[in-house]
Amino acid sequence: MTRRPAIFFDRDGVVNVSPGAGYVLRAADFHLMPGIVEVLAWCRAQGFFTVLVTSQQGVGKGLMSHADLDAIHAQLQATLAPQRAAFDRIYSCTALAGQSTRRKPSPEMIFEAAADLPIDLPASALVGDHDRDIQMARNAGLAFAVRLAGENALGEPGDALVDSIPGVLAALQRWHRAQTEA
Ligand SMILES: [Mg+2]
Repeated sequence: MTRRPAIFFDRDGVVNVSPGAGYVLRAADFHLMPGIVEVLAWCRAQGFFTVLVTSQQGVGKGLMSHADLDAIHAQLQATLAPQRAAFDRIYSCTALAGQSTRRKPSPEMIFEAAADLPIDLPASALVGDHDRDIQMARNAGLAFAVRLAGENALGEPGDALVDSIPGVLAALQRWHRAQTEA
């Protein structure tokens, strides 16, 4: 089985507009970031797996149910699929801080994806908007991490620091071009 690289995506603030300090509790409140569909479609067209890795403590706090979260992700996939941009897998950590070894910056969700799909992890990349996302990429041994600057304090700039979704796409394209020319 031929392994292929994946691009891992954080959710809130990268795929959808960040809910700020709270949580997206209903599908009606889930709003895609402008331009992210193009990023996901590009990744798929290049042959990358695309995997969503998200922390959703709102479930652990009892603010929403697992079914609510599943409904949000089902709507997301239904929106992306006709645009050839759906995720290959979605992994969520719904536990409270300190109550699960899967929480970022743990690489566990990435390793779960690599157990479920033939992913070439050392050739893979991640896009995130929090220090924990970048640390997760490092802990998983990924090749490249794109940091989207936003509302979170910036300690880990990643391998490419960008301030927009078009910037994410440009960074991934530059990295991919360098890989294929090397
Ligand atoms: Mg985020």
